[in-house]
Amino acid sequence: MDCWNFAGNTKSCNIEIEIMNRVVIIGAGESGTGAALLAKAKGYDVFLSEIFNIRESFKAEMKEADIEFEEGAHSLDKILNADLVIKSPGIPYKEDIIQQIIKNGIEVIDEIEFGFRFLKGKVIAISGTNGKTTTTLLTYHILKEAGLDVALAGNVGESLARKLVTRDYDWYVIEVSSYQLDGTTTFKPDIAVLLNITPDHLDRYDYKFELYIDSKFRLLTNMEPAGQYIYYEEDPILSKETPTRHIASTINTISLRGNKVSQAYFDGMEMNFHIGTKSFSIKQEDTTLKGPHNLINTMAAVSSACYAGVSVEAIRAGLRTFKNAPHRLESIAEINNVEFINDSKATNVDSVIYALGSYSNPLIWIVGGVDKGNDYDLIKEQVKEKVKALICLGVDNKKLKDYFSGIVPVIMETQSVKELVRMALKASEEGDVVLLSPACASFDLFKNYIDRGNQFREAVLELKSETENKAS
Ligand code: ADP
Repeated sequence: MDCWNFAGNTKSCNIEIEIMNRVVIIGAGESGTGAALLAKAKGYDVFLSEIFNIRESFKAEMKEADIEFEEGAHSLDKILNADLVIKSPGIPYKEDIIQQIIKNGIEVIDEIEFGFRFLKGKVIAISGTNGKTTTTLLTYHILKEAGLDVALAGNVGESLARKLVTRDYDWYVIEVSSYQLDGTTTFKPDIAVLLNITPDHLDRYDYKFELYIDSKFRLLTNMEPAGQYIYYEEDPILSKETPTRHIASTINTISLRGNKVSQAYFDGMEMNFHIGTKSFSIKQEDTTLKGPHNLINTMAAVSSACYAGVSVEAIRAGLRTFKNAPHRLESIAEINNVEFINDSKATNVDSVIYALGSYSNPLIWIVGGVDKGNDYDLIKEQVKEKVKALICLGVDNKKLKDYFSGIVPVIMETQSVKELVRMALKASEEGDVVLLSPACASFDLFKNYIDRGNQFREAVLELKSETENKAS
């Protein structure tokens, strides 16, 4: 057996290894499969249990690695003899099976904690309610383009554990969700970013916002004085909570309102950075991202990259070539000088605030789906000022229609994406922007936000070629 123990960071064989031999994984998503592969690679006796069906590709990987697994059941006799259990972040601690495991005195951790116990490189961990993926991808892109040996992991792309199966990297850029943080004990980023905290996923936290906040702050628990904590200081929760927490690392702030004391601040014209001994400025036009929220994300990514030792020139180069993941203010096409934007990932009002703030043009706003208790007062003024037509895309649009009638001059509705794009084009004039930023989950009409965004993109592109064919 490989000479690793669960406390990690030591390669000397010790008695713990003899005792901690069996690793059981509950849940076979990307993180569960990654954890199983890593545990196997490190020589443990591994068993994976999934209550639903396991994706064929994951099963094939486990067979190939000779990992024992089950699907459709949890066999207690094969689970309760574990020395350590790794649970999928999607499974709440209150779930029966997890409670039984804990009652049996077995430690239950997240895959990110498991992976962390084996890595030797440095970690940039990014969390928050919104903006995690964009900031993580941007940070990774800058480091990679600068030539660093870096892995992208966590909630975006592959799991951290999977990344560690074959080798260690110098740097890890990890998107971390609150569910993952709940299962960490020793996880310790070198650089940690908190972008914002707004109420979300409260069903997992007994509907207590403070428990969700505590979960996010777990990111900082083990950090050391040499570490850098970077947060957006105009977020009301972060600014209130940060001073009340014991944080051993150096604290850096990001300001959108031009607070010159911040290590990174936007002065209305450009982003200014004072990171260690480096001082420099960057204009948003020199990046590929739009909107005020992306100023925050960019300042977080640039600060992180700077602390990772990337030169200012390399940072500038990375910002110029970055391409964000789809469905986040993704510009799809222009038809008759009307730009169509896919922001299907905006499933709460908070994200829509930023989407609306990203455009000064008149908007045709597409909204709707499964409302998670939206408070439209938060966007009322912006909508009044900018939105000339609203198209509801959902099964039940009553709340939207009731709220916005009298605020937006034209309100329409449809459940067909093809019809939707035609309606939008008809309602628009040259220079307008058609913005799909739904503020709602998508499950009434679509599989998920990706499916909604993809269908929208396809319909826009089809309409574009139809319109061009007609014109020619
Ligand atoms: P996450 O991974 O946290 O869900 P994404 O980067 O995928 O975040 O962005 C999700 C949505 O949140 C997008 O619609 C985007 O417009 C919005 N958004 C991105 N960054 C921020 C931010 N810093 N603050 C608020 N909203 C944001």
